[in-house]
Amino acid sequence: MTIKAYGAHAGDRPLEPIDITRREAGPQDVQIDIAFCGVCHSDLHQARGEWAGTLWPCVPGHEIVGRISAVGDQVTGLQIGDLVGVGCIVDSCQHCAECDDGLENYCDGMVGTYNSPTADAPGHTLGGYAQQITVHQRYALRITHPEEQLAAVAPLLCAGITTFSPLRHWQAGPGKKIGVVGIGGLGHMGLKIAHAMGAHVVAFTTSESKRDEARSLGEDEVVVSRNAEEMAAHAGSFDMILNTAAAPHDLDAFLALLKRDGTLVLVGAPASPHPSPNVSNLITRRRAIAGSMIGGIPETQEMLDFCAANNITADIELIRAEDINQAYERMLKGDVKYRFVIDNASLAG
Ligand code: NAP
Ligand code: ZN
Repeated sequence: MTIKAYGAHAGDRPLEPIDITRREAGPQDVQIDIAFCGVCHSDLHQARGEWAGTLWPCVPGHEIVGRISAVGDQVTGLQIGDLVGVGCIVDSCQHCAECDDGLENYCDGMVGTYNSPTADAPGHTLGGYAQQITVHQRYALRITHPEEQLAAVAPLLCAGITTFSPLRHWQAGPGKKIGVVGIGGLGHMGLKIAHAMGAHVVAFTTSESKRDEARSLGEDEVVVSRNAEEMAAHAGSFDMILNTAAAPHDLDAFLALLKRDGTLVLVGAPASPHPSPNVSNLITRRRAIAGSMIGGIPETQEMLDFCAANNITADIELIRAEDINQAYERMLKGDVKYRFVIDNASLAG
């Protein structure tokens, strides 16, 4: 089946219309007509070749929502017409310890929604900036939000789970003070989710202009991280700081804000490394630096259900597929409140 998509042929070229093929639904597959796809900063990193190993052509997109249009004969629990989402994972080995624990995101055989080797043409996976996708049923998530929220649900499939998973793992909740660094796509979801979990939430931003706007996202306080005095007022007080910033920066400024045994969790994946932190900031209070990558399939379902129950969606700006290059430029300037989402109907022309 040939369908329309948007992709890049090289890191120094803009995204452009491209025809791609999808496999027919196999016995375990669902085929999805994609309604909307969120635009993650990882899409930009990959499409511009900022991380090593981009496979061309690159069709990004791993915040996919849509309706099932075909199912294989061994598919159970999902049927034609169901609203589903696909996040960053479209396959994994399905038998290692990580897969058995529902942490397919840490499986060595994880197949990313785009840019992973696969048997399908052209030899690597192609993502959600496309009219359709075919995935194994294990990786299709049920959406229980009202259908009119569908576009704003799309970003939950990456930005939502990437913040939910570490917030839950490090037990954000009542009595905990949680920081979220970088009020972009991931960060604004982190604020909403941490607030719904019952934590005291502090937003850290480099943008003075977000100080007041951020107020509606569920945080209790906003700190402009370029202001040393504001930072110092929070010294030694956080249980956990979730750092989503997409660019390298000084981590010591945030380590100093952690309590004894506090953890700085890095989820942002800048193209070049952060400057090395000062070891004394770790050892003097038994602090830790950790990382976290998206989330497993069961916890992604749990996150979607949690967000539906708490009426959480992303704040989005809906765009047409042909606006994607301009959207990337605006994302680099932090000029998006807070996630671009492609209306995939625009791919039809
Ligand atoms: P985004 O929407 O562009 O947001 C990133 C935010 O980082 C910006 O809005 C800005 O917030 C802040 N920032 C930018 N430059 C900064 C700097 N020099 N110092 C401090 N903060 C800075 O990007 P996103 O889609 O949320 O993605 C964020 C990062 O996470 C990307 O690197 C992406 O690849 C990565 N990611 C990782 C995972 C994972 O599994 N670990 C999953 C998805 C994405 P302020 O204006 O508020 O400062
Ligand atoms: Zn992403």
